[in-house]
Amino acid sequence: MGVAANAPSGHDGPMASTLPDIDQTLATTFGFTDFRPGQRTIVEALIGGENVLAVMPTGSGKSLCYQLPAVISPGTTLVVSPLLALMRDQVAALRRAGIEAGSLSSATPPQEARSALDGLADGSLKLLYMAPERLAANGTIGLLKGKIARIAVDEAHCVSQWGHDFRPEYLKIREAADAIGHDLPIAAFTATADPGTRDEIARAMFRRKPKIIVHGFDRPNLSIAMEPKSDPRRQIIAFIRQRPGASGIVYVSTRRKADQLADGLVKANIPAISYHAGLDGAERTARQDRFQREDGLVIVATVAFGMGIDKPDVRFVAHADMPKTIEAYYQEIGRAGRDGLPADTLTLYGLDDMRLRRLQIDQSEAPDQVKRAEHQRLSALLALLESPACRWRMLRSYFGEPSEPCGRCDVCRDGIVEADATTEARMALSALLRTGQRFGTEHLIDVLLGEETDKVQRFGHAGLPTFGVGKERTRPVWRGIFRQLYAAGMIATDRDGHGTWQMAPEARPLLKGEVPFSVRADVFQARAKQKAPPATKAALSDLDEAGQALFDALRAKRREVAEAEEVPAYVVFPDRTLIDIAMKKPTDKSAFADVHGVGQAKLDRYADMFLPIVAAHLGQPTAH
Ligand code: ADP
Ligand code: ZN
Repeated sequence: MGVAANAPSGHDGPMASTLPDIDQTLATTFGFTDFRPGQRTIVEALIGGENVLAVMPTGSGKSLCYQLPAVISPGTTLVVSPLLALMRDQVAALRRAGIEAGSLSSATPPQEARSALDGLADGSLKLLYMAPERLAANGTIGLLKGKIARIAVDEAHCVSQWGHDFRPEYLKIREAADAIGHDLPIAAFTATADPGTRDEIARAMFRRKPKIIVHGFDRPNLSIAMEPKSDPRRQIIAFIRQRPGASGIVYVSTRRKADQLADGLVKANIPAISYHAGLDGAERTARQDRFQREDGLVIVATVAFGMGIDKPDVRFVAHADMPKTIEAYYQEIGRAGRDGLPADTLTLYGLDDMRLRRLQIDQSEAPDQVKRAEHQRLSALLALLESPACRWRMLRSYFGEPSEPCGRCDVCRDGIVEADATTEARMALSALLRTGQRFGTEHLIDVLLGEETDKVQRFGHAGLPTFGVGKERTRPVWRGIFRQLYAAGMIATDRDGHGTWQMAPEARPLLKGEVPFSVRADVFQARAKQKAPPATKAALSDLDEAGQALFDALRAKRREVAEAEEVPAYVVFPDRTLIDIAMKKPTDKSAFADVHGVGQAKLDRYADMFLPIVAAHLGQPTAH
């Protein structure tokens, strides 16, 4: 029976004094100098034997919260995790850090499974990873009974029957915990923020009420930009070209688009693959693995891609189509920059996206109440997209966290100026009314611009007083006006999917000229605005030119080592470590130990491989 399970909960238990210092373990074993916000509180609660439900956004460092207590406390920690690939990589990373870890799954080689079971028997195994299906399988409880000190559950929202990721086996975890040991402490982790899911987890997973720790939705290393679609392929390629050699994810709305855009990128000499639910299981796994392991690959994917992704050095996430909700958006951009280094995101959106989303909601089978909620969530998303205020501030306030302007989103960087668009708005409304509220954006713009198209001739629209009144403005400007009118609730789309516009009653005063209408000034700029330098470059640019060359050499070495050891590159060292080596230029082992992410095990294993690269760079023989 694990000792920690019997430890009194609370802060002044006897364990604190007898355990190794957590700060010291953080440095020597994990190679980190500081805890991230929230980590210390959770670590201390787990060491104190408390039940914890931790809500932390993706990439905020949840694994460390149970790994560090597992290393320090006596006994074996059982980690329930839904994804085999992720499990395998985590175990590999832990072993490299000198921590006894193993997994039991269908994918575990027999040799490894045997040594994990031996470690479990003699108590030397610190972490045992297992999928929920395996935990629920016959015979597993007998294997674990009395040998587990505490349980950590990853992706705990999978227990929610109303959620998208529901896994029935998650409902059996609590029962399994009872059978394995009496009143075992359980720590559950999730990135899903909404209070309903949170309550459901608390009820389904715990016997005692857990301590709920929710922390920061800020991601200081992520930059946000949002841009109307003009030519999405060109926009995405331009965005990627500013970040050469970076790994990234591009989200699209359909399988076909995923394949097409991936093709387009390859033709533009950008290494890219697609990923979607239309591929068979083996192919999907192969592509996901490739993305996980390879440096500098772009994956163009539908939302089917994501949950299993644990790649810390994803340098950008782009949305070529509008995301579904703010929650989905946050999850998806959260896959960038998990290593804490700067990463960029770009979201494209257009009228078609907005209309399609509205249609999906209206045509779903859901009860009216759910539909109403969905429409509200869509409005919140549109408000964020067209917002004249700081993006991060709006995003965090959506999750219930007040904050100051971030200084790193496109609005903060470029500043948003409002411009008066009363005249244009009235022209657009007039064109809409005079054509009978039966047409979509492009035809209305034809009328405004005075284009003699077939359709214009067929309906006799060239004779309207509105015909050609909008010549002063370009087509993209007019699209922007329609978008802003839509986001402001002045026009509404039909419910049958033909993409025609109706005027909302709210627009009457505007049409009559009684109230003004203002838009973000960039609506009037024909082309996209001046781009800020990519954040990734900004981090690397802390290095001088020689430092860059050293970084490249270190990266080449890392690739060689990773290939030889058959692990992803970041398992050897994350980018951040390489940058730190390139800055500190350590010439001996003790200097190497000060590098970010280098603990004792990695020092022993890798110092002699990487020190010569630095020495060669400095033109010196290696000092041992
Ligand atoms: P999550 O599970 O919350 O999505 P992870 O546990 O995968 O996030 O952690 C994301 C990355 O952050 C990993 O590369 C991890 O090594 C790193 N990390 C975690 N804690 C720290 C820390 N205190 N200092 C520096 N890096 C950290
Ligand atoms: Zn901002």
